[in-house]
Amino acid sequence: MKVVKFGGSSLANGEAFQNAINIITADPERRVVVTSAPGKRFATDTKVTDLLISYANKTIANEDPTKVVDEIFGRYQAIGAYFDLPVEKLAPLKERLLALPEKKYPNNNYLLATFKAHGERLNAHLMALILQQLGYRARFVTPEEAGIRVTGTPNNACVLAETYENLSHFSFNKDELLIFPGFYGITLAGHIATFSRGGSDITGAILARGLHASIYENFTDVDAIYAANPNVVDNPQPIAKMTYREMRELSYAGFSVFHDEALIPAIEGNVPINVKNTNNPEKPGTMIVPDKDFQPTDIITGVVSGKHFAALYLHKYLLNKQAGFTLRILQILAKHNISYEHMPSGIDDITIILDRNAIDDQLVDVICNEIQEEINPDRLEWIDNYAIIMVVGEGMRNRVGVINDILMPLAEKNIAVPMINQGASRITIMIGTYDIDADEAVRAIYHRFFAN
Ligand code: ASP
Repeated sequence: MKVVKFGGSSLANGEAFQNAINIITADPERRVVVTSAPGKRFATDTKVTDLLISYANKTIANEDPTKVVDEIFGRYQAIGAYFDLPVEKLAPLKERLLALPEKKYPNNNYLLATFKAHGERLNAHLMALILQQLGYRARFVTPEEAGIRVTGTPNNACVLAETYENLSHFSFNKDELLIFPGFYGITLAGHIATFSRGGSDITGAILARGLHASIYENFTDVDAIYAANPNVVDNPQPIAKMTYREMRELSYAGFSVFHDEALIPAIEGNVPINVKNTNNPEKPGTMIVPDKDFQPTDIITGVVSGKHFAALYLHKYLLNKQAGFTLRILQILAKHNISYEHMPSGIDDITIILDRNAIDDQLVDVICNEIQEEINPDRLEWIDNYAIIMVVGEGMRNRVGVINDILMPLAEKNIAVPMINQGASRITIMIGTYDIDADEAVRAIYHRFFAN
């Protein structure tokens, strides 16, 4: 049995639905389908999830939401009309949408999560109705029914272990198609909570693990995952196969085709993932597999830059002799609920790399002041506009001299490298640089390894 998940652009209009249905019905093993909310139909279009966020905000602000509700419902209506679905079949979808403001929520964060989740809920319902109308035996299944249980963090939920226990009791007929909405689960108190944005990938992975799929097919709008971002490198090489941990390292820094948190259930269940293109399903796409099934053919698999970092540099003589120095810094960060990303250190120096998106300017001042007072370093520097380049490849592990091939092209381009981190993960070399140099650095490294 295969789990197939379709992203928002693969379900954005009637035509896209038709492509998805062709894919689902072409293979009898494709039995479990996960839907995203309708995405963008053209570059300036708005995703239904974003329209629902605006509906939630209008509800909270007591503003008239009629226009945005009509826009949201219009998206589903147009898809239904493409398949000549009788209008009365869509009435329950409209009712649910209109009833959202009337429900009781513990607070506005839960309200927002419930509104957002309806993008996928209504789309899964619609997909089931269309498949039924076309004569297929299709069943719309909600996370409530299947027992997808998540933490009580309404807009950033994590799956709870009991989900897998619930899914092990979930029964279905051999000849039916199950249509699940992605992106959300139910908290222990019975409320809707969504995963982080792009989280329908996570639902697909949970179902693939919990229902013991032989493969998790993730349909999106690109032919493959590429060895570098196509907006940075012209015609990068597609990746035919990579390991879970390579994907994890690459998606951490910016490979956004597949949600990094969605890897975890797949890893736990040992389910291979195939990322494929809905508009080009005969292409093989990219396989993401356990490392035991992988023989690297290239030295590196991919190179990516993340530009959303900042670094706090501290210098203090005899830092290596002071017990608890790092602990005191981390306590200050923890007090402000800040997690650090990386922390390379030397004899008298330490650099703490942080996610800049998680810290506002005011907080930068507060933590720098507190660290100055508490630690009294000889030098404290805040470096904004920091970027991290991740060079990832299982093929690097037993190879001598890779670091030279990475650094030489950077030196040739005169790109400064304030930090190198290699060691903790034997399949990644992490290079700190400044964000203005990041794209050039990616191009230089890519061309060194993939020139031919
Ligand atoms: N619709 C949600 C989002 O836009 C989840 C997803 O598409 O996976 O983030």
